Amino acid sequence: MIEDRLARLRDFLREKGADAILVSKEVNLHYFSGFRGDDTVLLVSPDEALLVTDSRYTEQAAAQAPLYEVIRQKDGLWKEVAAAALKRGWKRLAFEGDALLYRDYEKLGTLLTDAVLGPAISLAPLRTVKEAEELVWMRRAAAIGDAAFDDIVKFLRPGISENEVAVRLESTMRALGSERPAFSTIVASGPRGSLPHGVATEKLIVAGEFVTMDYGAVVQGYHSDMTRTVCVGKAGEKQRAVYEVVLTAQRLGVSLVRPGASGKEVDAAVREQIKAAGYGENFGHGLGHSLGLEIHEEPRLSSASTCESLEPSMIVTVEPGVYLPGWGGLRIEDTVLVTEDGAEALTHSPKELIEIS
Ligand code: ZN
Ligand code: ZN
Repeated sequence: MIEDRLARLRDFLREKGADAILVSKEVNLHYFSGFRGDDTVLLVSPDEALLVTDSRYTEQAAAQAPLYEVIRQKDGLWKEVAAAALKRGWKRLAFEGDALLYRDYEKLGTLLTDAVLGPAISLAPLRTVKEAEELVWMRRAAAIGDAAFDDIVKFLRPGISENEVAVRLESTMRALGSERPAFSTIVASGPRGSLPHGVATEKLIVAGEFVTMDYGAVVQGYHSDMTRTVCVGKAGEKQRAVYEVVLTAQRLGVSLVRPGASGKEVDAAVREQIKAAGYGENFGHGLGHSLGLEIHEEPRLSSASTCESLEPSMIVTVEPGVYLPGWGGLRIEDTVLVTEDGAEALTHSPKELIEIS
């Protein structure tokens, strides 16, 4: 748990050759200390763990982050952070290059009269392998997404707007325990289906249209992410054909997720199959991404993936799509857990084409 995470953070710190690490990204405050709030900084050295926050959070921080010494700042966060570092004689302070704002970097740099900021690091690689407890929350978030799908299939009909569909999905998830939507809910109907990130609009759904819904829940900070495309009414020949291409590709992708596979090879195999079906130009985005405390995490399944080898307890989405401007498109997405010998889908909603009568 937090002890293990703190130990891994300290190993990482030693590797980087710094005296302490300054953690400022909100999800990493949560992951490495248990504290859930903002405007707070962790300072972790080989033998100390400090949490610098303000009066709004001191009581909460003491309860949520018992392994940390809570320091209440009264004169500005960065002044307090610099004072704590200088007092301890730290000379090199690693920081999150993907989180610290440049203006704060400059300010802190000026205050650290006797120390330097660096190296810039990313803590994302420390969160790629999920712990058992994290998987409990992720399974729960995925189950809430599935339950919202069961409900929305009964709700969908011609004449309602994409926004109504989004509100219904979000309120169902909230009622089932989701803290908030995992991201801006995507509902793209008819010709709008060619927009991979078509967030819901006032557009009314017309009989015979595909409706692509991409959404997720958040439980204890952990996200879920799923996409289903259904047909409101009877699907035409082309709709069936394109759906089959995406479904076959999606199943292939899930079957290739296993320990040892690289992020590039899984993406390439699925891309090749979509290309062979004649839609190579119509699948532009990466095949998938990990998620957890953030909706997009490492590793990725894409041509640019830096993941050489998937490991058990990593999470990835498998989400191929085909997008035809002017016509529409569709995507199918499952969140998948890498197991000891393969993969297990956390998303359980049906994937065969549903035609809502
Ligand atoms: Zn998604
Ligand atoms: Zn996704």
